[in-house]
Amino acid sequence: MSILVQKYGGSSLADLQKVRQVAQKIVATREEGHDLVVVVSAMGDTTDDLLTMAKEISANPSRRELDMLLSVGERISMALMSIAIQSHGHEAVSLTGSQCGIITTHNHSNARIMDVRPFRVQDELEQGRIVIVAGYQGASYRRDVTTLGRGGSDTTAVALAGALGAEACEIYSDVDGVYSADPRVVLTARQLESLSYEEMQEMARCGARVLNEEAVEFARRAKIALYARSTHDRESRGTVVRVDYPQDARVRDESRSPAVAVSHIDEGLWVVAGEEADAVMELLESYRVAAQRWRPGEAAALFLNVDDVHGVDALVEEIRGVAPEVQVERAGMVSAVGSGIGRRPRWARMGRGLVEGSGAEVREMFLFPDRLSWVMGCGEVRAAAGAVHDGLVLGQ
Ligand code: ADP
Ligand code: ASP
Ligand code: MG
Repeated sequence: MSILVQKYGGSSLADLQKVRQVAQKIVATREEGHDLVVVVSAMGDTTDDLLTMAKEISANPSRRELDMLLSVGERISMALMSIAIQSHGHEAVSLTGSQCGIITTHNHSNARIMDVRPFRVQDELEQGRIVIVAGYQGASYRRDVTTLGRGGSDTTAVALAGALGAEACEIYSDVDGVYSADPRVVLTARQLESLSYEEMQEMARCGARVLNEEAVEFARRAKIALYARSTHDRESRGTVVRVDYPQDARVRDESRSPAVAVSHIDEGLWVVAGEEADAVMELLESYRVAAQRWRPGEAAALFLNVDDVHGVDALVEEIRGVAPEVQVERAGMVSAVGSGIGRRPRWARMGRGLVEGSGAEVREMFLFPDRLSWVMGCGEVRAAAGAVHDGLVLGQ
């Protein structure tokens, strides 16, 4: 039988009623004849609530203990989901990341998966059980519990799909696919039918959290088709991310709309580091913060996506510790993603005009072959994202 890996995000599991609904959906898929591995996230805002509890006790809790604490969120979901499925008369078993053989680096709160040895999962599937897996976690080679960074349940799902040779990996959430911008922020955003891995990775790197960047990287390496779908809307086909997307499905006229999508980061860190940029970059390695570096030498500046960082204030302190001269402030970033967009000066000029026309002041522009990004004040991001989307994606 073919193996299907599905992942359900926190908003799809926000209360017991939703857990029951997802359990019914899983049972229906099982009855269609699939071997099923289901990765679950923590219910609703559980991860944030657990973090808040830790911070009420200590301003700077240790990253090892945070991992112990946060991994519990997904364990609650997996056990409840297994119980819900069993109540329908199906056999299910819940397993932690460690029981699934997910071996990670020792970098607490942002560990990377080094290897997946899914023997236990395979045994349970052979026994005819539906396997429910706690996402977002693994065990380091020193046998400590680790977590994979925010949104890391996506990575668990894709890594398991690769190791099991699954037919596909489906990521279910509260949105019915990948849109040309965050549909909660840019109301004119359109659902995308298909995307390449590279386009999705670039979008995720620049703030589109609908699919986790590392998860897309795993899918790209294992050549697994990744589907983003809605948990509750059965009619919508969702979005597929894969290597051989049909070119003719693209209706985009590249002479008018050079971007596939726009991503935004509401609150990152803008670090003007000058000659201390190397020291800052070195420090960031342990945090695994996505850093965009700009301008060499004395004026070197970095934009950091800190959405994954549990303690931004502590990070700022550490940056100041290794680089006393740096200027650090909160800032936002809007990015337009499209193959070759950075190679034509016309698009960079037009994009800048759109950002400024929305009322934002551009602090810096990043030019990459397949992406343009503008750094600006946090409060200016949303209007700028809408303007860049309508101009460079819709070609209006
Ligand atoms: P889950 O909890 O299921 O993992 P997330 O909250 O991580 O879900 O991701 C879904 C959210 O991603 C949506 O609610 C949406 O606001 C946001 N999002 C950001 N960019 C995009 C985009 N380009 N397309 C779709 N959703 C996006
Ligand atoms: N629960 C974790 C988070 O909130 C992981 C995930 O949802 O993928 O980031
Ligand atoms: Mg997510």
